[in-house]
Amino acid sequence: MSAPLVIAVDGPAAAGKGTLARRLAAHLGLPYLDTGLLYRATGRRVLDAGGDPADPAAAEAAARALAPEDLARPDLRAEEAAAAASKVAAIPAVRAALLDFQRRFGAARGAVLDGRDIGTVVFPDAPVKLFVTASPEVRAARRHAELLARGVPARLEDVAAEMAERDARDSARGVAPLRPAEDALILDTSALDAEAAFAAALALVESVRARGDSTGS
Ligand code: C5P
Repeated sequence: MSAPLVIAVDGPAAAGKGTLARRLAAHLGLPYLDTGLLYRATGRRVLDAGGDPADPAAAEAAARALAPEDLARPDLRAEEAAAAASKVAAIPAVRAALLDFQRRFGAARGAVLDGRDIGTVVFPDAPVKLFVTASPEVRAARRHAELLARGVPARLEDVAAEMAERDARDSARGVAPLRPAEDALILDTSALDAEAAFAAALALVESVRARGDSTGS
């Protein structure tokens, strides 16, 4: 019997990786983990305690104390949590604290995981790696529309600036920076609709399965 299939879906904010990862997981009957939630929940815990998300000791303590209910909080999608997430995510001890959980989740029954470093650090041997990206303008417009649809007032310029700042921090950090794995399939969703991205991802999964190579750890 082959090892459980692990699919890594990485990319910058609002590129469409969550939509693609969720759809792949549902289609393939695999568990799904949005790893951004771990960083958002860690950042949120630090903010709630009145701390600074860039403080390594406070952030590591928050990551180590994460409980399942932290991941179910309704306020994790807010921009405040996103900015705090990207600050705690640059701290090596925070990443180390969250690594085991992600690896155990994927190794148990296989999984689709989305994040920034799944294909480079968490599961460097995943047989299927996708890097989902889109132009900064397209991503900012998408996030802006999402916020308005949720009834959150936002200005496009502010959303674009916040996203640029977060992308820069995620790409420049010394530990697990945002970058495509060398063996990742790059899907630019500014030029590809959700359907075409899904079809391309599925074709990659099928080709890996046809090779009989689904080692995922
Ligand atoms: O994907 P999402 O926007 O929810 O991620 C929030 C932040 O968490 C990112 O900007 C990034 O700093 C961090 N993150 C990370 N590694 C992951 C997932 C998220 O560093 N695997």
